[in-house]
Amino acid sequence: MSLVTVTAAALVGALVLVVTVLRDGSTSATPSRVDPVQVTAPATEGTPGGPPPATPATPEPTTPARSADASRTPRPGSADRPGATRPGTRPPVVAHGPRTGNLVALTFDADMTDAMLGNLRAGRARSYANLRIVELLERDRVPATFFLTGKWVERYPELTRRLADNPRFELANHTYGHLAFTRDCYGLPRLPAERMTEDVARTFRLIEPYGGRQTRYFRFPGLCHDAAALAALAPLGLTVVDGDVVSGDPFATAWRPIVRAVLSKVRPGSIVVLHLTEENAAMTDEALPHILAGLRDRGLRPAPLSEVLAGG
Ligand SMILES: [Zn+2]
Repeated sequence: MSLVTVTAAALVGALVLVVTVLRDGSTSATPSRVDPVQVTAPATEGTPGGPPPATPATPEPTTPARSADASRTPRPGSADRPGATRPGTRPPVVAHGPRTGNLVALTFDADMTDAMLGNLRAGRARSYANLRIVELLERDRVPATFFLTGKWVERYPELTRRLADNPRFELANHTYGHLAFTRDCYGLPRLPAERMTEDVARTFRLIEPYGGRQTRYFRFPGLCHDAAALAALAPLGLTVVDGDVVSGDPFATAWRPIVRAVLSKVRPGSIVVLHLTEENAAMTDEALPHILAGLRDRGLRPAPLSEVLAGG
């Protein structure tokens, strides 16, 4: 199947899904417990909205160490990428793929806030990049999709490169600094409306030079969005990705509830929301082998998000 055909199928899948989501009456104005990353880290750290703390830092990866290949010359507009939609139109919101077939998408959010960077700098946190998850996915050749914040990419450029280099991994956008796009989003500090478009555009620009399987998929922090937030992203030509299986892995203290939450809800076409943020999701790597085994038992197969949305 040609790339064009695949992309067209993905777009058709996305449009069908929007209808499904609307018919369900499920909006994400009131998301279930997802991703309360900064609930325990109020904005007492540093100056909210001010410059990020001086982390050991990593300049913008304008020239990642890759050999010259097609990924070095991203096409203007990125119109052929999975999730790409016509700029100027309100982005579709998908929560899952077609309920036929046996594919499911494992998605991992890589959050990073100024408060989290402050925790790393002060030694209150060791890592927000769970290598055990990446190693397990690599070892078992499991496809996955990673929603990266720009600040996480800046903090972990080597791991970002490793993710981009894996042909089974897709890269997607989770904002620059994990600020809220609506009022009342798990206590996350709010991003001013006039900065929303540039925040997301900037994050695509940060991820893009790493090449690999780039997409135009985007996930809001906490899955919090409203009409104004969607309208702000219309110029960017993207697809908003929620999820229908919330694992509850942030701040979990045991792995069994995560496994139970996922396996009790997962179905063909599901998008499973997990976290790569180690210190804030410390049980996810322990849960993952059990989740993978449970998916196998149910005849479900992990696939990159674009393939799940295209219906396999
Ligand atoms: Zn998040």
